[in-house]
Amino acid sequence: MALDSFIFKIFPVREFSRTLESLEKTKATSEKVAIVADYLASGSEEDLELKARFLSGQPLPRGSGEPLGFGWSLILEALLEAGALAPGWENSYRSYGDLGEAIFHLLEEKGWKPEGTPVTLGELEEFFREQSLIKGGDSRKRKKLLFLNLLRRLTPLEAKFLLRLISRDMRVGLKENLVEAAISKAFGLSLKKVREANLLISDIGKVALLLSKGKLEKLTLIPGNPFKFMLAETAPSSQELFSKENREYLAEDKYDGIRAQLHASFKKVWLFSRNLEEISGNFPEIVQAMEGFPGEIILDGEIVAFKGRALPFLHLQQRLHRIDPERIKKQIPVSFFVFDLLLLNGDSLLSLPLKERRELLSSLPLPEPLRLAHQEKIRSPEEMEKAFSRSRERGNEGLVLKDPDSPYSPGKRGKQWLKFKKELSTLDCVVVRAEWGHGKRAGLLSDLTFAVRDRKGNLLTIGKAFSGLTDSEIKELTEWFREHALEDEGWGFKVEPKLVIEVAFNGIQRSSRHESGYALRFPRIKGIRKDKTVEEISTIDEVEMIFKEGGFP
Ligand code: AMP
Repeated sequence: MALDSFIFKIFPVREFSRTLESLEKTKATSEKVAIVADYLASGSEEDLELKARFLSGQPLPRGSGEPLGFGWSLILEALLEAGALAPGWENSYRSYGDLGEAIFHLLEEKGWKPEGTPVTLGELEEFFREQSLIKGGDSRKRKKLLFLNLLRRLTPLEAKFLLRLISRDMRVGLKENLVEAAISKAFGLSLKKVREANLLISDIGKVALLLSKGKLEKLTLIPGNPFKFMLAETAPSSQELFSKENREYLAEDKYDGIRAQLHASFKKVWLFSRNLEEISGNFPEIVQAMEGFPGEIILDGEIVAFKGRALPFLHLQQRLHRIDPERIKKQIPVSFFVFDLLLLNGDSLLSLPLKERRELLSSLPLPEPLRLAHQEKIRSPEEMEKAFSRSRERGNEGLVLKDPDSPYSPGKRGKQWLKFKKELSTLDCVVVRAEWGHGKRAGLLSDLTFAVRDRKGNLLTIGKAFSGLTDSEIKELTEWFREHALEDEGWGFKVEPKLVIEVAFNGIQRSSRHESGYALRFPRIKGIRKDKTVEEISTIDEVEMIFKEGGFP
């Protein structure tokens, strides 16, 4: 065995960072896939799960509950304390535009030598898990110490990729779909099979492990393991909707709340948000209601603030803050409006037509505060108008029109579900810049420039909002923006495009001031959408559609 590969076998994080280094130097996608396939196929089974997950830029499995709670300002503080940053490090950071790369060069220049035993992939995972669990008064100190203890044992190259993994972006041109392709190559399976498995299990590490062992029969929905949600497209005009003869839709109320997957397996119950984070702790009444369910079930629906009728989303937001959920559940009661049944007692129902899933769902007794979502059949624009106004009378946003024969396709946004929320249109945008406020808001990053996306995922600015957030939200966000700053522009920061806000407005007009070519009139922030990611924000196509319809929501 060559010395190099021998060292790699016993020092897995070294092998991991060398693999990433080769990926960084490789341009062609097929070569990247081949490098990753070789890497996954070699070494121990134990490490396979972690290799696949870390390569996709995920420190912890999706749905594992806690966020890392580890931002740049904390890392910088720790690095300064460790003497890892020489004076003038800011210039280095600026010239590389990436903290990982800057640290690599700074440590190399210092002649940094790792101490103690090399780190294993399992230890790396343990590090992330411990970081996510540290809470309380002295958490900053403890987090820093844990980080420094790990850093001491890393080479500069390993430190670079650790920082990139913390930022969840490996920057080697490797997205999860390439890791899927590498798994298919490494274990001789069709890419379609790997993709399907990943959609069901939503944990690329587990997918790699199960597929490597040929455990195809285990590739089904597993209670406790969240998977991607099926999503809706914006509906076209009502004439277009009914242009085909005998067209029928199942029209459901569009609830303005938090999308959630409820999993129950005998006494255990989980609630997952649409970015697959566990939110069970925030809604104890829903969890308790399902604890008595005698079997296994997975439901899809929307959690709504509800007092006799649906309340606006604003109310629900407070339930997402971690203030004593037991106390706040009385002030802001919720209902879980269930609109889909995806697994019942071991059988996945994904491929059944919606109308059959709904029939089964309607036959189940749902305990309070679970309720069956309102649904009716519609066959014409007139019936749709009526259903729409009835939904609005119930306090809901509009309608989601669903194809009665459609299967449930996890992760798919398509024409089988069409959302329709005529009057109340808002856009979900991502904040790209935060600027210092004036007067009462001096010292706070309160003026937010936000963007929508095009089909390729490029972000295009569309407006700037100053109002809609409370003082305490702005204070909290100021801290967040500092932690996620990309560039100090003097009057504010360019920030990582991660924070999604829902923006209400009075109209849309053409404008050369913003990259999208449009500007929102009188934009105001309706809410922070912690449940949404940048991939899910509104598109320029939606903006154009609202503009064409008269520029008014
Ligand atoms: P939007 O947030 O405007 O992109 O609309 C899509 C969202 O509507 C989904 O992700 C769900 O959270 C929500 N929604 C509300 N009611 C329904 C429903 N009956 N069916 C599907 N999605 C719904």
